[in-house]
Amino acid sequence: MLRAPFMKNPERSKKLFARASQILPGGVDSPVRAFRSVGGTPLFISRASGATIEDVDGNRFIDYVMSWGPLVHGHAPRGLVKAIAAAARRGTSFGAPSPLEHRLGGLVRTLMPSMERVRFVSSGTEAAMSALRVARAFTGRDRIIKFEGCYHGHADAFLVKAGSGATTLGIPTSPGVPAAVAADTLLARYNDLASVSALCAAQAGRIAAVIVEPIAGNMGLVPPSDGFLSGLRDLCSRHAVVLIFDEVISGFRASAGGAQSIFGIRPDLTCLGKIIGGGLPVGAYGGRADIMDLVAPAGAVYQAGTLSGNPIAMTAGLWALEHLSPRLYKNLAHRGSMLAEGLADAARAAKVSLQVNAFGSLVTPFFSSSPVRDYASALNANTSAYATFFRGMLARGVYPPPSQFEAWFLSAAHTDRHVKKTIAAARLAMKDVARTI
Ligand SMILES: *Cc1c(COP(=O)(O)O)cnc(C)c1O
Repeated sequence: MLRAPFMKNPERSKKLFARASQILPGGVDSPVRAFRSVGGTPLFISRASGATIEDVDGNRFIDYVMSWGPLVHGHAPRGLVKAIAAAARRGTSFGAPSPLEHRLGGLVRTLMPSMERVRFVSSGTEAAMSALRVARAFTGRDRIIKFEGCYHGHADAFLVKAGSGATTLGIPTSPGVPAAVAADTLLARYNDLASVSALCAAQAGRIAAVIVEPIAGNMGLVPPSDGFLSGLRDLCSRHAVVLIFDEVISGFRASAGGAQSIFGIRPDLTCLGKIIGGGLPVGAYGGRADIMDLVAPAGAVYQAGTLSGNPIAMTAGLWALEHLSPRLYKNLAHRGSMLAEGLADAARAAKVSLQVNAFGSLVTPFFSSSPVRDYASALNANTSAYATFFRGMLARGVYPPPSQFEAWFLSAAHTDRHVKKTIAAARLAMKDVARTI
């Protein structure tokens, strides 16, 4: 039986947040963590294990944030922790090559054959901004096409209708991004090939790259519609435009080979992050050898990093990728659809309008009465209903993402029992929502 609500008053989190807010802008190091769009005080976390996180006041939650995607094997799996500790004893950073980098790079190329060359960086942001630079160098063109609601990290060129954090905070573009930089970023609509072909035709010979999340995860989860990705591939090939798949979320999550393997599309370049670091800071970009061989020191496109290929981070990434298995994806898909159906049922029972988008272990319940297939339809969602739902879930021991426009992440550590408890909590939280709308 669920005792609800059982959450202890987060006294310590409140105190810590007040102190942190005097030191860190907004009290956090990444905006969505501040709970601005759902209200209340962000919980300060003291520890995490498997599918569970615990806050500094001793509240425990089934976690669906999972560090925003990296933790496909759950929090702190024992083997990973051991491997990290052993690596640390051998040295924390060398600033020189180690065999770990090409081992992990080789594994990435085996899983994603389009990645003929791989360069490691320290975040998804770095991966995307570097991939863009090399695409511009390769084509000798400056303009790019991105999709409304897709997020590719916080580099200037991408902070135009960038989804998630930016959507939640209502900042469609950020101050501080030079107008001249934003002017080279053209916007298309996700799942709308016509919007892309119109831009390609109008800007013939000026577009360096199309960058896309092949499974969009930063406006909430929005899967690609039939033919969208293959249509992009055709358009890019026809116009000699570099097709960049940003698989920072979908890589190693949608399948071991990412979205590109599921949909059978070979992008020219791919950006990776999140899972590739096993919970440590790693990003990577790579793809066609003729493009990537422009990157220094093989070529003239400059890109570097003091901690790139860090031995502890590479060790964690190797552990994470070596533990991907068909069984993992089968379980993730099973629990993803169980969660999606459970959330939809809970909404029906409470007579709340809900659209649940799901793809394998990625799920987003949109509080909306119309299907969500792009950014405009995502923005129809009732964010205050989501906030009520979020607080209701938290009070019943479940920690969903603190924003309507983020995907819920399942991991290998989430069991049927966790998902059933989550659905039971959702049935009650949906009643909270029904009372308030
Ligand atoms: C998270 C994310 C990024 C940025 O990665 P960081 O490691 O946060 O810099 C880029 N692209 C996508 C699709 C992401 O989800």
